[in-house]
Amino acid sequence: MANLGITKYGNPVLRKVAEPVTEINDEIKKIVNDMLDTLYASEGVGIAAPQIGVSKRIIIIDTNPTEASVKPLVIINPEIVEVSGEIKEQEGCLSIPDVRGEVKRYERVVVERLDLDGNKIRVEGTDLLARALQHEIDHINGKLFIDHLSKLKQQLLKNQLRKIEQGQ
Ligand SMILES: [Zn+2]
Repeated sequence: MANLGITKYGNPVLRKVAEPVTEINDEIKKIVNDMLDTLYASEGVGIAAPQIGVSKRIIIIDTNPTEASVKPLVIINPEIVEVSGEIKEQEGCLSIPDVRGEVKRYERVVVERLDLDGNKIRVEGTDLLARALQHEIDHINGKLFIDHLSKLKQQLLKNQLRKIEQGQ
């Protein structure tokens, strides 16, 4: 297990559509362990495999990382199958440090996914979980939360984003 560090804005892996997982083997379990270590070291609520440089459709969400009895959700090959409502809230991303912006998301989503045993499971999320699911599923589709911001806000963030891209 290792904390691999978070890939930052500007890394092309964040803009790729990630590959589906075809078999849950030791390689996938190792990726999940690395993602968990990296997530907890980064104090985020969610992480997608491209954020550790792996272009696969795996995301992990833990909306309550300080509560050990709440298990993280390991989500493989997720598909959003139901949505309802809309809500606009501040959002940020471990790959885009110090940048925040208001993003409109569905208030409730239902996601079908595989768990680590290969079982097909439905996850229903509202509030923070719904937002985290949509944010992380965007990641495996090569999308970032800043893509949802207004053109004006994107323009205002241009210099800040360029600095992250250049590793400053
Ligand atoms: Zn993110």
